[in-house]
Amino acid sequence: MGKGGSVEISLVIPVYNEAAILPELVSRLNKVCSGLGNSYEIIFVDDGSDDGSFETLQELKRQDPHLRLLKFTRNFGQQAAVLAGFRLCRGDIVVQLDSDLQHPPEEIPKLLEAFTGEVDLVTTIPKQRRDGFLRTLGSRYLHGFGQLLFGRTVKLNLSSFRAMRRGVIEKVEACRDRSRYMAVLMSWMAVPSVEIQVEHHIRQKGRTKYSILNLIQLTWDLITGYSNFPLRVVTYMGLFGALIGFAVMLFLLYQRIVQGVLIEGFIVLSAVFAFFAGVQLLSIGFLGEYLGRVHMQLQNRPDYIIEKVIE
Ligand code: UDP
Ligand code: MG
Repeated sequence: MGKGGSVEISLVIPVYNEAAILPELVSRLNKVCSGLGNSYEIIFVDDGSDDGSFETLQELKRQDPHLRLLKFTRNFGQQAAVLAGFRLCRGDIVVQLDSDLQHPPEEIPKLLEAFTGEVDLVTTIPKQRRDGFLRTLGSRYLHGFGQLLFGRTVKLNLSSFRAMRRGVIEKVEACRDRSRYMAVLMSWMAVPSVEIQVEHHIRQKGRTKYSILNLIQLTWDLITGYSNFPLRVVTYMGLFGALIGFAVMLFLLYQRIVQGVLIEGFIVLSAVFAFFAGVQLLSIGFLGEYLGRVHMQLQNRPDYIIEKVIE
């Protein structure tokens, strides 16, 4: 992790195929930051772009000493990119934002103003979210589901537009889990925070990298990474099945002994068998998921591979 203190503010920005938007982003960021009166650095993490984003960044860096660039060997995902940026940055305050200008740089001063003595983390909530219908729906469901999972002790904020003191990053680093889903992790840590309203803009160029499929994957990651909920469901299903089986057995015994009837139960049996076969397969699947996670954690591969850093 980079050393703190040598600059006051670090911006950490993941980039995946955003070449068309980068020049405007950098010029608007500089305009805002130079007005702050603090020293700052802008860290771009190129997450394996293949549209020339990194070349564009290098070009921009030639005229701008504030930029520091990091390039992954391939696409490792937004979370990995943010983590890498956090490790490189040196600021006492770190601002994370997307590179697609949906998080307007002009809102950054508002985030910084929200830091008072007690606050370690400033999260944001869009005044009005400007995303496609499906993307918005996907986010709502992810948030609702996550909140359900955590219960009321954790207030989930999934926006990737946030600002934090350096200490928060050190706490993130101390969590050694595989899926460092930043927003969830930071919500889970529940460091003293405030949530402020900010503008949210339409993506001007390119399109979202999060399809419904990606969002389902994220949800699954959220569930298996942060709870044992599926395992508990399986336990309850097993309990339920065992109780039903026991009741049916009592009923059949009663019929046989008291009423003297022998019920021919092929159909009943097939149904019950199919149900339990299903439950068993499902259980094995769930167990496998967790075992897979343990396996990955044991392998302990890095979250990303860096190709180069340009200071
Ligand atoms: N991003 C990334 N790696 C990925 C996907 C996205 O670094 O694999 C970056 C992307 O360039 C953007 C941010 O993460 O800066 C958010 O992505 P996007 O705007 O596509 O998501 P949305 O706004 O729909 O949440
Ligand atoms: Mg976006």
